[in-house]
Amino acid sequence: MRVDVVLGLQWGDEGKGKIVDALAERYEVVARFQGGPNAGHTLYHHGQKVVLHQVPAGIFHEGVRCLIGDGVVIDPEILVQEVEGLSRMGVGVEERLYLGRGVHLILPVHRWLEAVSQEADKIGTTRRGIGPAYADRYARRGIAVADLEKPDYRQRILDLTAYHQKQFPGAPPVELSDRFWEALENLRRLRWVSTYEWLRQHRRILAEGSQGTLLDVFAGSYPYVTSSHTTVAGVCAGLLVAPQEIGQVWGVVKAYATRVGAGPFPTEIAGELAIWLQERGNERGSTTGRLRRCGWLDLPLLKYAITINGVTALIITKGDILAGLPSVKVRIGGSDDAPLYEELPGWKSTSDPNYEAFLRWIEAQIGVPVWAISTGPHRQDWQIRRKDLLVEKT
Ligand code: GDP
Repeated sequence: MRVDVVLGLQWGDEGKGKIVDALAERYEVVARFQGGPNAGHTLYHHGQKVVLHQVPAGIFHEGVRCLIGDGVVIDPEILVQEVEGLSRMGVGVEERLYLGRGVHLILPVHRWLEAVSQEADKIGTTRRGIGPAYADRYARRGIAVADLEKPDYRQRILDLTAYHQKQFPGAPPVELSDRFWEALENLRRLRWVSTYEWLRQHRRILAEGSQGTLLDVFAGSYPYVTSSHTTVAGVCAGLLVAPQEIGQVWGVVKAYATRVGAGPFPTEIAGELAIWLQERGNERGSTTGRLRRCGWLDLPLLKYAITINGVTALIITKGDILAGLPSVKVRIGGSDDAPLYEELPGWKSTSDPNYEAFLRWIEAQIGVPVWAISTGPHRQDWQIRRKDLLVEKT
């Protein structure tokens, strides 16, 4: 068994979903290992835009099975909706999607906690209850998919709801709607598996990251982080695999940088250029619709992300968005308050020699090859740039 990994090296939204979709046909399984429906992987299927929140981005390939691995937390209502939406599109999701028995549930009370506690506002979370669901998981009172087989699961959900409600006596009560209970029942239509045993029946697995390294709960700019491990360590923990079973680690990087929500962003751009990038790059959160803060590529942070993930090759996305600028900046050092930049010549398109020069310059700076580039939002808009690199280990 070998597990290759696609993960983001910035603050998420690097274009991982599209890359996973492009790479998926080389694999038997595509597996999500962390996060919840805060992910919003945008891709195009037969020209139709699809945003996947919980279903892995390999789902559009008939020969590929998809796993929601144990490290993930799911919102049953959102998952059931997503499965129904994909089925309506003719995607054979019920035959191809597998759910780890150790996956934990986001309950209505978790969303409610984000609404009443105002913590979400400070951090700028997606308010989907993901943080509280992970908090309950770590506090050992969370509810896993496998618990739904036990006779007392309804009572446990009611007890957990009451437990949290007690902390906010004046707040409106949590609504446990029929739709929620139905969604729990509908989860039974999916195939529940032991993540450990099921993965071991397959040889070639692609682990799909969500968010980005700089949002990792340990490695990121705490407390402005997500609630899970977005790094390669999260693959081991969330899919129950050993470090030596990890093969390629593809680091996906945008040719510039974006960040949604609060937290430090040393290379942030203000003013007209930021608005231009937001519009041209469609830098609006796929889950929340919020505008993303935009900035220049930050090499010191990129080196950090490459190191802690053991990245073997980079995939650079969205260079096409910067096309037309007379020059682009990249942070090479300085401090977070006074970053030091290198200014490089701009490019007219991603086939312009100046873009190739930019990619070579990055390779020289960080010592990791840029294996491929993505040049647009569609599956076919990408090129393997370093065919000389053997990336298929057997
Ligand atoms: P993810 O969460 O990392 O998958 O990223 P998102 O889906 O949130 O954001 C990436 C956005 O950029 C999506 O709308 C993609 O369709 C789009 N995209 C991905 N790669 C490229 C690219 O190379 N060029 C352009 N123009 N758009 C891209």
